[in-house]
Amino acid sequence: MSDPNELTVLDPATEEVVATVPAATAEDVDAAVVRAARAQTRWAALAPADRARLLRRFADAVDAHTEELAQLEVREAGHTVGNARWEAGNARDLLLYAAGGAERLVGRQIPVPGGWDVTFQEPLGVIGVIAPWNFPLPIAAWGSFPALAAGNAVLLKPAETTPLTALRLAELALEADLPEHLFQVLPGYGATAGRALVDHPDVAKIVFTGSTRTGREVMERCARLVKPVTLELGGKSPNIVFADADLKAALDPFSFLDNAGQDCCARTRVLVQEAVLDEARALLADALAAVVVGDPADEKTQMGPLISGRQLERVRSYVPDDAPALRGTAPDGPGFWFPPTVLTGERHDSPAAREEIFGPVAVLLPFTDEQDAIRLANDTPYGLSGSIWTRDVGRALRVSQSVRAGNLSVNSHSSVRYWTPFGGYKQSGLGRELGPDALTAFTETKNVFLSTEVPAP
Ligand code: NDP
Repeated sequence: MSDPNELTVLDPATEEVVATVPAATAEDVDAAVVRAARAQTRWAALAPADRARLLRRFADAVDAHTEELAQLEVREAGHTVGNARWEAGNARDLLLYAAGGAERLVGRQIPVPGGWDVTFQEPLGVIGVIAPWNFPLPIAAWGSFPALAAGNAVLLKPAETTPLTALRLAELALEADLPEHLFQVLPGYGATAGRALVDHPDVAKIVFTGSTRTGREVMERCARLVKPVTLELGGKSPNIVFADADLKAALDPFSFLDNAGQDCCARTRVLVQEAVLDEARALLADALAAVVVGDPADEKTQMGPLISGRQLERVRSYVPDDAPALRGTAPDGPGFWFPPTVLTGERHDSPAAREEIFGPVAVLLPFTDEQDAIRLANDTPYGLSGSIWTRDVGRALRVSQSVRAGNLSVNSHSSVRYWTPFGGYKQSGLGRELGPDALTAFTETKNVFLSTEVPAP
């Protein structure tokens, strides 16, 4: 931690200071919880249609500022401008989707003897959302918007390196007439503001996205208060490429280079069937050499910098200069640059093949047959996502049933859509975000039995 009272936001492409932001203290968190609890009571009392209308107005405000939000994401996170525009649009679309959910949050009527039985989905109260720096805008949105739609208030703590888009979102919410204090952003350090949210008895749930190490601590602290958590943690996802696959599509390097590899769903274990290993190596070498790495604000750039000097050191530690590898190029000079890299001399149990590197680095590993591919794919503590490439439909089905991960794609590298559930098996997380059940994760189910027995005279 540098200055405990202030966050310094750097442009990762130039290392220039973009902004400084006062850091929220534990006392700030306490005061924000009190304000949020009051706002939540009023918000939950509104008719669902009125909540939906206000959230649609919020979506309109985000829509009117997508370019501004995208440019902020370029400056504070180094995202390519094309990706950043998609991210701002994703936040808007999720708001619209969640707004519809507010009007459809229905309970059930369950047949029981002696009366009627109905269930209600009631909001939890104040939700704490702790977001990381890799996708500051979308991940803040995924945690916060369904919670708001379900009738909760949200306190959002962005990562210390990337608070700016979150702060702007909160301003836009106010411009759209969402009640004051309903959606507050608390820029601050994890060890102070983050921990204060986790430990606060009046924060009803924590949604955390980040490392497995910190996620474990968050879960332990929540356990003391029996506080529910949703955890979206790390990954080391396989890209399983069978010999009959469309190899060029299967080996698209953006399956692990998107966002400079700082993506929990990055397919960083490239598992290729032995028969086509040489061909795969040649395709990857050509593809890496063609990747345009540079100024993220330039429309032609395909890959930007890493987020910080700390992250750059971490990525470097996995790639010694003499490691056998296919390499692209990256700019020199200021900025946190690392070239696209595929390590070719790793064993599947080496640290680079097992640990989340979170940079533009994948490992190439051979497999013999379907059983071997499944064994290697599952031999990891993680289980977030993965791709399966084959033209054999039966095999695609068998392998997707056997790989233990929350988000698989067949003949595609896609992972996250706001219409579908997202989350991890094993140490990649707990619970799901997005999809048709996103709002339910921010509610308690209340069961009410109404007797129809005729009272005794
Ligand atoms: P962290 O998990 O430490 O940070 C994620 C968020 O949690 C940040 O907002 C952070 O605040 C906050 N935080 C940190 N400590 C605590 C705490 N004790 N209580 C509550 N909140 C806390 O990730 P790092 O930024 O340290 O990144 C390290 C590695 O984690 C990466 O290299 C990558 O492997 C993985 N990672 C995975 C992500 C994913 O999407 N699954 C996202 C980000 C990282 P602050 O910013 O002040 O540290």
